[in-house]
Amino acid sequence: MKLSTLCRPFFFARRYLSSSATCRTSSCKALVYHKLGQPEEVVQLDGNHPLREMGADDITVDMMVCPVNPSDINQIQGVYALRPPLPAVPGGEGMGVVSAIGSHVTSLQTGDWVIPAVPSLGLWRTQVVENEKIFMKVRSDIAMETAATLSVNPTTAYRMLRDYVHLERGCCVIQNGANSGVGEAVIQLAAAWGFKTINIIRDRPNFDEVKNYLMELGATEVVTEEFCGSHKMTSLIESTGKPLLGLNTVGGKSATNLMKQLANSGTMVTYGGMSKKPVTVGTGSLIFKDLRIVGHWNSQWVTKNSKSEDHHTMIDELCALAAQGSLKAKHCLTHPLNEYRTALCKSMTPFVGTKQLINMQP
Ligand code: NDP
Repeated sequence: MKLSTLCRPFFFARRYLSSSATCRTSSCKALVYHKLGQPEEVVQLDGNHPLREMGADDITVDMMVCPVNPSDINQIQGVYALRPPLPAVPGGEGMGVVSAIGSHVTSLQTGDWVIPAVPSLGLWRTQVVENEKIFMKVRSDIAMETAATLSVNPTTAYRMLRDYVHLERGCCVIQNGANSGVGEAVIQLAAAWGFKTINIIRDRPNFDEVKNYLMELGATEVVTEEFCGSHKMTSLIESTGKPLLGLNTVGGKSATNLMKQLANSGTMVTYGGMSKKPVTVGTGSLIFKDLRIVGHWNSQWVTKNSKSEDHHTMIDELCALAAQGSLKAKHCLTHPLNEYRTALCKSMTPFVGTKQLINMQP
């Protein structure tokens, strides 16, 4: 990624920080959709979006950068489990800086870096006014891209590695969609905690390049979908040990092949359906292998546990790993706010290899 692209958000943060106290307004710029449909067609830039008046418990956050996640796209298309009333501002994730606080606010100060503590807030806007409970402080010595993409993918990886199977150091985890944002977070957290990972990705012309990058992140093995479906997997699994945990974000044949590699009484957690094909479980997998087939929805965990001790512990741990260089965001491409359509289209392009970020500070 170009250095200029990487540095742009930091430049805006510095510029913003020096003028934060004076830039409060009663409206902001926001991306809005009035009807469900293809994101690049239905999302529009509203240059005069109303901003709620600040109350004593409220903070104003100047949004810096927000990623375009598959859940944002699905929400705009109307195929996601959460459907906000229309018109709506999309954007479930992002990083902002507190620019003003109400008189009763105790947990945050101006200048703090914050991320959402609840799902689907609607963050694709230049400013947001919300109760202080809605945001969580993150440390400001981590990369802005990492902060902006911390609250969805790394937390999903964290919960799936912690909450479903007890894994000891040396245990093996298998996952498909391993080059996704979640997949890369799984690789890095597993490496930090001493677990081996077998990582499945779709074949592509630059397979070796992607494989090498995932190995650099800490992957134990990286294979193609075709390899995973072949007899060659047997010797690979002999060398790693049978996985107790499988993480599935693809579905269809990919999920079936992944399940075949699991140890008896192993668990497969499904958290995405990128192929749009259903997960089919063989009868023998349930009877003879006693596999546990479950699903994980991070929004539900965050809603139930928002700002709980567990939530703070997880965010602090992820930030600490990011600060020491053990957790970084997927490669990002940052787009100016008025070029949001490019960001939306690119986020839906196969094999693109980057997470699209929208720079909210024009
Ligand atoms: P990214 O945008 O970072 O990556 C998308 C990934 O999906 C890429 O690895 C891409 O691979 C792969 N992909 C796209 N289309 C297909 C396909 N037809 N078959 C197989 N793989 C495909 O995604 P995220 O990490 O942000 O999200 C990944 C998935 O996880 C999404 O489905 C998302 O909704 C889900 N998710 C679920 C959560 C939950 O709580 N359940 C929380 C967070 C994410 P390629 O390079 O080959 O194109």
